[in-house]
Amino acid sequence: MGRQLTDLLRRGKYLIFELEGGATLLVHLGMTGHLLLAPEGQPLPPLPHIHLVFHLEGGLELVYQDVRRFGQVLVFPPGVEPAPLDQVGAEPFSPEVTAAWLAEQARGRSRPIKNYLLDGRILAGIGNIYACEILFAAGLHPATPAGRLSRKDWGRILKETRRILKEAIRQGGTTVANYLNSRGEAGLFQVQLLVYGREGEPCRRCGAPIARLIQAGRSSFFCPKCQPQRS
Ligand SMILES: [Zn+2]
Repeated sequence: MGRQLTDLLRRGKYLIFELEGGATLLVHLGMTGHLLLAPEGQPLPPLPHIHLVFHLEGGLELVYQDVRRFGQVLVFPPGVEPAPLDQVGAEPFSPEVTAAWLAEQARGRSRPIKNYLLDGRILAGIGNIYACEILFAAGLHPATPAGRLSRKDWGRILKETRRILKEAIRQGGTTVANYLNSRGEAGLFQVQLLVYGREGEPCRRCGAPIARLIQAGRSSFFCPKCQPQRS
C-alpha cells in the first residue's frame, strides 16, 4: 500500500512490477486475464470477474480482471528473487539467441519440437497459437524430435519466431474466440492465422486440408504437405 512503482518490466509471459523498497509484484495474465486502466470513479463497464484494483496516483485505477482465472498475481518481499522467473527461457529478440545456440540447447532432446517450443524454458513467451504458426512458416512437422533439427532448421525457427512475434506485437496481439474489449467491442487486431484453428480448411499455401494433432494436451494445427514428417 502506498508504494511507488519504480519499474515495469517483462520476462516471458510475466509482467514485473518493481516496487519502492524492493518488493516485486509478478503478474501472469494466464489465458483470459486483462489489466485495464481506467479513471478512478468512472463506473467501469459491467465487468465480471474483477479480482484486484490498484489505486494509482493521478486518479487512475488499474484493474485486474480474469474470467477463467488461470492468471496469477504474486508478491515477493524485498531480497527474494521471484522463483517463477527461473523457469523463463531466453527472450527471442535477444542478440545472444542464435541458431547455433538453439541447436546446442536442443541436442539429444527427443521431445517433439512443438512441445519443446511451448515449454518456454528455451525461448520465452511462445504460446500455442504462435508455436503452430512458427512451425508452419518454418515448414517443420510439429512432432519432429527437437534434437533432430539442424542448425539451419533452428535458423528458420528463429527467423519466423521473430517475424511472427514482431507482427503480433505491432498489431496489438491475437485474440481468439469471443473476446470483447473493455468497451464491449470485438478484438480489433488479428494476426492472420495460417494454420491455427483451421482444421479441415485448405492450406493457404498448397490447398491441402489442415490437420490437427493433440500434443501434451494441446492442439497442434499443421499442413501435412508443407510440414512433412521426416522419416
Ligand atoms: Zn500446405
